[in-house]
Amino acid sequence: MKISDQAQTITPFLVMDVMERANTKAEQGTQIIHLEVGEPDFDTPRCVRDAALKAMEEGKTHYTDSRGIPELRDAICKHYRDTYHVEVERDQVLVTGGSSPGLLIAVACLATVSDEILMTDPYYACYPNFVRVVGATPSLIPTGSDDGFQLDPAKARKAIRPCTKAMLINSPANPTGVCLDESHLIELSSLGLPIISDEIYHGLVYEAQQHTILEYTDNAIVINGFSKAYAMTGWRLGWAIFPKSLIRTAQKIQQNLMICAPSIAQWGGIAALTQAHDDVAHMYNTFSRRRKIMLEAMAGHGFTVETEPTGAFYVLVNMKDISSDSYRLALDILENTGVGVTPGIDFGPGAASYIRFSYANSEENIREGVRKVAGYLKSL
Ligand code: PMP
Repeated sequence: MKISDQAQTITPFLVMDVMERANTKAEQGTQIIHLEVGEPDFDTPRCVRDAALKAMEEGKTHYTDSRGIPELRDAICKHYRDTYHVEVERDQVLVTGGSSPGLLIAVACLATVSDEILMTDPYYACYPNFVRVVGATPSLIPTGSDDGFQLDPAKARKAIRPCTKAMLINSPANPTGVCLDESHLIELSSLGLPIISDEIYHGLVYEAQQHTILEYTDNAIVINGFSKAYAMTGWRLGWAIFPKSLIRTAQKIQQNLMICAPSIAQWGGIAALTQAHDDVAHMYNTFSRRRKIMLEAMAGHGFTVETEPTGAFYVLVNMKDISSDSYRLALDILENTGVGVTPGIDFGPGAASYIRFSYANSEENIREGVRKVAGYLKSL
């Protein structure tokens, strides 16, 4: 079979190579510390699991409304009212099988062959591929430690061309952990370009304020979900908020490609939003403590964290003095220390000399993992 040109443009997610190699080493008896993972190490809150079990017992195992069960969409609207004082109507909400399908649907609504979507470099590894799969092109706006990895609205304005159909932003961001300043959000909102705002790390903001783009503009699609703040990665449950003019288009794409989000997960999602407050607060507080421990360990071992992360659960460290080939370096670190880390090259050319450390692990493993990596790098 001949693979299509479009399919050939899709790049691999290199962290998976590191993770698979780490798992092979673990099977062979090596003790592995996973600092490469992009998912919470917590179990899903008990009340969420109970709600899903109950739904399963009650036979709620059928297709749901393609937009999601009304109770869940109402709970999502209430979440926006309570958290951001923003009014979202039930008819604007599309419940999705994770934020990833939400991103695909959003991009598919706005862009096609020969269109462009703006995004920062570094970016979340999968963003360019969502764009390429619909035949469009990612247009990269460089950010770096000199601007605190903030997307500069002036640079964004300059990058807009007639073929530019939207701007994709992510705050807090993967891999930098950086939250966009409110002033930047306001300026970006005033550019007149539709914004796709990936807010999947909301709920995990420690030393910055958390703002949804909907506080500043209606010309936006918000992507969010249950994977991170609710520790529900495997449930495949997320949501997207569309402007009323787009929701029918988004619904049609969902009906055709996915039909609906998993029914059992949706019943769990209602419990997550309405009953899991204490568990969510506990996980948040734990991540907040781990962030400090990771930064202290980094500083103690002489790593320079150029831009302090204020959200998500990642720290990005520039290794340019050791190697500019972060893929090779990540594999070497794993081989020699048993610590899994993520090569920055996964996140674009702007992060090619960086390594991403995740603090979605125990305090003990964070300290031990950083100590081992530092020891190995000093021995080089
Ligand atoms: N956006 C970002 C920035 C992410 O880091 C991730 C997960 N790594 C996702 C979206 C996708 O998450 P999910 O599909 O599990 O909601």
